[in-house]
Amino acid sequence: MASVGGIYLDYNATAPIEPCALDAMNMAARDWANPSSVHSSGQRARSILEQARSSIADDLDVPRGSVFFTSGGTEAIDIVLRSFDPAKVLVSATEHDAVRVRAAHGTTIPVDSNGVVDLQALEELLARVEPPALCCVMHVNNETGVLHPLEDVGNLVRRAGGNLLVDAVQSAGKLALPRADYLSVSAHKLGGPPGVGALIVHEPARVARVGGAQEHGLRGGTENLPGIAGFAAAVEMRLSSTSWLLHAGRLRTSLEERLLHSGLGAEVMGKAVPRIDSTSCIRLPLVRAATQLMMLDLAGFRVSAGAACSSGKVGPSHVLKAMGLSDTEAGEAIRVSLGWRTTEREVDAFAEAWLAMAGHLRAMAA
Ligand code: PLP
Repeated sequence: MASVGGIYLDYNATAPIEPCALDAMNMAARDWANPSSVHSSGQRARSILEQARSSIADDLDVPRGSVFFTSGGTEAIDIVLRSFDPAKVLVSATEHDAVRVRAAHGTTIPVDSNGVVDLQALEELLARVEPPALCCVMHVNNETGVLHPLEDVGNLVRRAGGNLLVDAVQSAGKLALPRADYLSVSAHKLGGPPGVGALIVHEPARVARVGGAQEHGLRGGTENLPGIAGFAAAVEMRLSSTSWLLHAGRLRTSLEERLLHSGLGAEVMGKAVPRIDSTSCIRLPLVRAATQLMMLDLAGFRVSAGAACSSGKVGPSHVLKAMGLSDTEAGEAIRVSLGWRTTEREVDAFAEAWLAMAGHLRAMAA
């Protein structure tokens, strides 16, 4: 895929908008009335909105009445976190900043050296918090692709009388969603436009209301109708075929094997545990991620390091630090994330570029 001027292997940051999503956005933009207006044009806009809601609910296999549109994953998470006592919030150590920053006064649930949440620690922490606690554990980690054991997490949380928020931004449209009280979803990670997403909540009465009456008072403000229509089309497209993910898994395996067997010291973070097939977090000891990114970018490859999608800066990854790496080590990994348009040729070319870069930097260091 060359449209962003290089080989794009950064799908976890954002993904290309599907043509069907653009078509749906254009169509909805033509019916540009406010869905809250009572006139017939408003009612037409309302029906597009509700069709999009039904379609997303069907595709994601959740009840229609549980889908509330937001401006993205961050806002969906914020709506939940503002509804709970900050002192009763438990947060896994590898959550995205959308959760971590908002829950800064919460208690951290540690993860093991693979980045998987420590269930025993979670059980102990839940026993110390007066119910109802809010437990935040993401589905797929955006940096490593590591999956948390959410069935076990959910059982512990339910037994303790708590609530579970699962940040499903990196999994929605790709993997079956886990059972949770709250799920956050974002359109731009699955082929829809940026600036739109959803909170999936089974008991909306628990959530604090702000602003106007839209989205049943959960999220006031005029709905982003074109964005929502594009979101629904993208979800439908993604779930109509998930074979790309298997293909991505094969490409990732061959990439990792080549790098690991190169003798250049590559390490793959979280390799020993279940991960989504499209993500690889590759560490090159003794070389700063910023240097790797710069060289790869000059060679024409768009990849990321840590959570660079929010700050534009490269620092030590809090995810890798939580997995036990030092500050220096946690600043030596890059993330390669594949998508539905990624080809074998692109991944092969990336492997060649990485090997050339690592060989060069190693030779210089020696
Ligand atoms: N959660 C995760 C795991 C993410 O990767 C991101 C985006 O990078 C977000 C939340 C935020 O989503 P949005 O950009 O829709 O606000």
